[in-house]
Amino acid sequence: MPILEAKGVRKVYRGDGVETEALRGVDLKVEAGEFTALVGPSGSGKSTLLHLLAGLDVPTEGEVFLDGVRVDRLSRAARARLRLEKVGLVFQAYNLLPVLTALENAAFVLEARGVERRVREAKALEALAALGLKDKAHRYPRQLSGGEQQRVAVARALAAEPLIVLADEPTANLDSRTGLALVERMKALNEERGVTFLFSTHDPRLLAHVRRVVRLEDGRVVGEERA
Ligand code: ADP
Ligand code: ADP
Repeated sequence: MPILEAKGVRKVYRGDGVETEALRGVDLKVEAGEFTALVGPSGSGKSTLLHLLAGLDVPTEGEVFLDGVRVDRLSRAARARLRLEKVGLVFQAYNLLPVLTALENAAFVLEARGVERRVREAKALEALAALGLKDKAHRYPRQLSGGEQQRVAVARALAAEPLIVLADEPTANLDSRTGLALVERMKALNEERGVTFLFSTHDPRLLAHVRRVVRLEDGRVVGEERA
């Protein structure tokens, strides 16, 4: 059974009298343990597909499964619970909470799961340290650069030790050293803990490590390569 699946997925955005068909019938299966990239030009539907697989939004037509559960039939609250249990998200629009420090942000998913303070802070600190942010753990987002804020968002996703990580351009805005450290951290989690990764990227450092690349164009899967 695939851990992520989209079946005949269409997504139409409607607003201000404008309709955009962002996905035009996408079929995709991702098996547990994959480290897979979504590539394609800007506007091809990569973010939309990641949002649907994460249960952040529902398709206009078609079916979405996450670890065997049909996500698009669930209520918003049930989707949120499932996400909290199983998915780490690294999305531009899924921002840090400005009133929490980097450490509190990184521990946030664990707190929502009811993990006790000492344990969640230790895990959050470990994730921050792995991303080179140990000495900035007590800063608020506004006291961090854009690249650092993004690393905190990644730490938050990884600290919760999810089964699946869905990421939209995770290395964008990172300098080369930090970007490389993040790629290595992701690869280690995939190989050592079997975490499944699906991410959109243009980054050759990240593409160098993938075994499967799925190409989207104009809302359709137009090709696939396996290394
Ligand atoms: P990519 O991630 O590949 O750049 P997106 O999934 O962001 O592609 O966008 C696919 C298409 O859907 C684009 O034409 C984009 O303008 C449109 N789109 C994305 N999100 C929205 C939205 N919330 N409302 C309206 N149109 C959107
Ligand atoms: P990056 O390339 O990681 O985005 P910058 O070159 O923007 O980093 O920032 C360099 C350093 O300046 C960072 O280590 C960060 O701690 C500090 N810094 C950047 N913006 C702010 C800010 N708004 N408040 C406090 N410190 C900041």
